[in-house]
Amino acid sequence: MDCLFCKIVNREIPADIVFEDDEVLAFNDINPQAPTHQLIVPKQHIATLNDLEESDLALVGRLTYTAAKLARQQGFADDGYRVVMNCNDHGGQTVYHIHMHLMGGRRFTWPAG
Ligand code: ADP
Repeated sequence: MDCLFCKIVNREIPADIVFEDDEVLAFNDINPQAPTHQLIVPKQHIATLNDLEESDLALVGRLTYTAAKLARQQGFADDGYRVVMNCNDHGGQTVYHIHMHLMGGRRFTWPAG
């Protein structure tokens, strides 16, 4: 499948991997928007949030749990951080394999642009 994040999961293209378990992979974003900017992806290919099924609920929980765990491990959990999932064109999604952005190390503003 011609999917960038599947290729990272399958080690066909390199990435700076920071965490892996049976179901998820996390790696540093190539174009960081914060001192720490990581992407947490399911190993299973799911194109957009719209493609989630009820059987994926635990997997989405694992993405969120992994983000919080990485934030704690990297020392910015108490200061706070931002997690974002973009969906489709209006959401700003450019890679069509769902991913959670974990951003920390600076203050974020709201509302998002
Ligand atoms: P956006 O590109 O608008 O942030 P997404 O939410 O789809 O949209 O995020 C895709 C993310 O993937 C971007 O933050 C981008 O920098 C990152 N990215 C693209 N290619 C790579 C790569 N080879 N390794 C790591 N991160 C990548």
